[in-house]
Amino acid sequence: MTETLDTLIVGAGCVGAAVAYALRDRGDAVFVVDAEAGPGRGMTSRNSGVIHAGIYYPADSLKTRLCRRGNRMLYAFAERFEVPVARTGKYVVAQDEEGIACLETLKRENAEVPLAWAPRIPDGIRARRALFSPTTGIVDPHVFVERLLTISSAEVLYHQRVTSLRPEGDGVAVTIDGERYLARRVFNCAGLDAAGLTRDVRHHFARGAYFQIAIPADLQVPALVYPAVPKKSPSLGIHLTRNIHGEAYLGPDIEWIESPSFALDPGRGPAFFEAARQYLPWLEPDHLQPGYTGIRAKLSRERFSDFTFVREGRLGQLVHCLGIESPGLTSSLAIGEYLAERVDAGV
Ligand SMILES: Cc1cc2nc3c(=O)[nH]c(=O)nc-3n(C[C@H](O)[C@H](O)[C@H](O)COP(=O)(O)OP(=O)(O)OC[C@H]3O[C@@H](n4cnc5c(N)ncnc54)[C@H](O)[C@@H]3O)c2cc1C
Repeated sequence: MTETLDTLIVGAGCVGAAVAYALRDRGDAVFVVDAEAGPGRGMTSRNSGVIHAGIYYPADSLKTRLCRRGNRMLYAFAERFEVPVARTGKYVVAQDEEGIACLETLKRENAEVPLAWAPRIPDGIRARRALFSPTTGIVDPHVFVERLLTISSAEVLYHQRVTSLRPEGDGVAVTIDGERYLARRVFNCAGLDAAGLTRDVRHHFARGAYFQIAIPADLQVPALVYPAVPKKSPSLGIHLTRNIHGEAYLGPDIEWIESPSFALDPGRGPAFFEAARQYLPWLEPDHLQPGYTGIRAKLSRERFSDFTFVREGRLGQLVHCLGIESPGLTSSLAIGEYLAERVDAGV
């Protein structure tokens, strides 16, 4: 006999965990399954750990809306449930007229968020002009995901790989490690693998490398420094980011790959050095050590693509979360809220 489940969430990354958290008071029996041995082992633990302000995307996009709301929700959640965060703020720096024009556009298009011209350029970085975003910060993604899952009271099962999801009647037929189940509704939050569990969508994989850097002890360098990039740039440029443990990294760059592999080519180091040297004039090649890589799940190589939620089945009972690349960590609580509200309202 096929075992039946109430609500199943595929993936214990920040998005799956946030959906479980958003459903916590609805009386559903929620199961979260993940192919790995613990939570947050996918994109959630291989990123910059930045709480973004939502300034880079089209104004009417879900990325802008959910990032801005997610930013506020994440700080509030962290304060309430003791998740390590730091409101570091972030500098976006320009070295020439072209860069200054990018900053002017960024400022003009983000009138509703706090974003100001930096009155002075901090010691330790070089810039002709800089914008300062005071609501940008950093979070510990591991603690965040663990807290979400604990508070959600969902049943979380690891080493469980979902290989197929199909609407069947009013429910969803699910195959987990060769066993068949029927669920009332399913959220596919499988990150890099989410598109593989749909009928016809595919993700394009963009790997980004990080190099760890040593910052000389006598220098006061801000935690987050981003270069000014043109609006159509596929990434935010190689930036300086500090994680919650104080370690400094440069990254990520962008390299298209056919299938996910987290290998890091140390030969990419010189390009990182050249890019970061523009705004870190004290940087020396031997300050860089290979760090780690992350892979973005993108829906297009050429164009902006938004967070995309596809619902399948007569009642929309199968929900696929697709293209949840940056700023997905920041947006996760707002994504959970957004999906839970729509499911409740039957839209
Ligand atoms: C290089 C890089 C930098 C980034 N920087 C930032 C940043 O600074 N700030 C920000 O807000 N966002 C950032 N992001 C985006 C953010 O990391 C992601 O949007 C977010 O982590 C997506 O979370 P997720 O839960 O959807 O995916 P994941 O974290 O990948 O979780 C998916 C989970 O599903 C599991 N899974 C996969 N397939 C299956 C299966 N078949 N069966 C069962 N389980 C399965 C995986 O094991 C994994 O645990 C960055 C991303 C990258 C790649």
